[in-house]
Amino acid sequence: MAGHDCPFEKRFPSELERDDPYFMWQAYNLAIDAWRRDEVPVGAVIAKDGTVIAAAHNQTIALKDPTAHAELLAVTQAAQALGDWRLTGATLYVTKEPCPMCSGAAVMARLSRVVFAMADPKMGCCGGAVALHTVDTFNHHPDVTGGVLEGECRQLMQAFFQLKRGGEAGAREAAWN
Ligand SMILES: [Zn+2]
Repeated sequence: MAGHDCPFEKRFPSELERDDPYFMWQAYNLAIDAWRRDEVPVGAVIAKDGTVIAAAHNQTIALKDPTAHAELLAVTQAAQALGDWRLTGATLYVTKEPCPMCSGAAVMARLSRVVFAMADPKMGCCGGAVALHTVDTFNHHPDVTGGVLEGECRQLMQAFFQLKRGGEAGAREAAWN
């Protein structure tokens, strides 16, 4: 199945209310872009003061880089946009709970908040498998909110793996990253 055959449409919410779903829809749209490029459909945006300062999707296949997750690419963009490695006051929105690497990056980048859609009980490190943001000895603890547009993002991910990896079994066996 070709990557451009993504059966999901992008969604464009009203810009009047810049709440968590508003930013998550943008992450969702980036996940669709990832699908269209045959990448695992994960999208991320980073917002500060109501404005998106970074937007990325998973590119591990295109870049042949296991660190090219949407969140890490967005963190790098955001730091460049702000001219500061500290992303204090910024919020990361991502369609799937961040993995160990990306949860670690959220701590190291001093992100104020992490908002994700679907939880990942196998690899998620914002409360799914473990909760890196609550480790006492760490010097930074982002606030974490899960479940924003969870159903929509889960449907996208499950459909992708179902098509890519062959039916229900593929969807169940899916390793998100
Ligand atoms: Zn990751």
